[in-house]
Amino acid sequence: MCAVVGAVVIGAGLLTPPSASAAPGAPQAPSVASLAASAPAGLIPDRPMPEEVARALTRVARASDGRVRLGTVGSSNEQRPLPLASVGTGGVRLLYLTQQHGDEPLGTPAAVRALWALGVPDSAWHRWLRSRVTLDIVVQVNPDGAVRNQRYNHDPSAGGEYSEPGVGYDINRFHNPLTPIEDIPVPEARAILRRWHATHPAIVVDYHMQGRYLQPDGRETTASILWPTTTLAGEAAVTRSRQVAVRNFDVLTSVAGANVTRYPGGDYEGIARNGYGILGSASLLVELSDLPPEQADFQIRTAFTSMIATVHGAANGSLWRTDPARADTIPERGPSLPDVTTLRRADAA
Ligand SMILES: [Zn+2]
Repeated sequence: MCAVVGAVVIGAGLLTPPSASAAPGAPQAPSVASLAASAPAGLIPDRPMPEEVARALTRVARASDGRVRLGTVGSSNEQRPLPLASVGTGGVRLLYLTQQHGDEPLGTPAAVRALWALGVPDSAWHRWLRSRVTLDIVVQVNPDGAVRNQRYNHDPSAGGEYSEPGVGYDINRFHNPLTPIEDIPVPEARAILRRWHATHPAIVVDYHMQGRYLQPDGRETTASILWPTTTLAGEAAVTRSRQVAVRNFDVLTSVAGANVTRYPGGDYEGIARNGYGILGSASLLVELSDLPPEQADFQIRTAFTSMIATVHGAANGSLWRTDPARADTIPERGPSLPDVTTLRRADAA
C-alpha cells in the first residue's frame, strides 16, 4: 500500500513553478536535492534530544561564519533553553516552529538541515536570498516533551482545558492572541508569542506529525497541510495563508514526492495556525505522517522542501502570485490506515 512512499526520485527540483516568474535579478535557484546534499550526513539524529539539537546548531553556526545566528526565545517550564536560529538579514520575515509536540520530532532535523543549506553555502543565490529574507526558526519548541517523548510540555501543576493533568499542557492550544500573554500558563507559548510581537513575521509555518491515513485515491498520505480556519483571521491573512498552502502542495507533490491532503483541523484560536493568522501572518500547518522508521529520511526531506520552498517563494515574491482558490482543490484527508496502530493518543495538531 505504501510502496510508492520513499522510493521517489527527486525530480528537477524547481522551487518556483515555471509559470511563476522570478524576481528580476534573482540568480538561478539551486535544486532542492543539491541544497539537501550540502548538509553533512550525521549532522543531527532523526529524533534528537535537546543537547543534540544544541550541538548541531552550534556546528551550523560555526560552519556558516556567523550567517546562522543562535539565541533563544525563552526557556521551557523545566528551564531548558528554547533555541532560536536565524539566517538572513532581509526585510521579509518568516518564523518556523518545530516539535511543539515532543513526540513529533521530524521537523526538527529538517530545520537544522535547512539552516545549513541556507546559511553555510555562499553562492550568489544564497547571498541574494539572505539579502531578501530573515528566517527565524524555533528549533524544538518543546524540549521537555522531547526528552519524555510526550505530546505535552512538562508541568506537574498542569490542569484545566488543553492539559493532561499532572503531566503538562498542550503548547499548541496556548497561542491565543486574545489572551494577555502574561496570563498564558505555558512558557513555551508565551515565548513564541513574544517573538511574534517583536518581529511581526509575514509568514509562520508550524511543523507537526500525524498518524497514518489514506488519500482519496487509495495511496498513503505522507503529509497534510492547513491554513487558518478561524473566522477571526482577516481575509488578507487567510488569502496569503492559502497561497503558502498552494505553493507547499505543489512543491511537496512535485519535488518531494509527497502525497498531500488538507488537514482536518479545528477553529480554536489557541492553535498556532489560527493564532498567528488572527495576528495577520500567512500561517500554515504542516503535518508529516508517522511513517515507518525507514522512511524518516523521506519525511525529513518533505519538511526540508517545505522550508526551502516557502522561504524562496517569500524572497522572490512568487508566493503572492499563487492562486489562493486552488487551496480548495487540495484533497481531503481520507480514512485512518486500518492496519496501523498509531503511537500517539491523539494526533490533532
Ligand atoms: Zn502536533
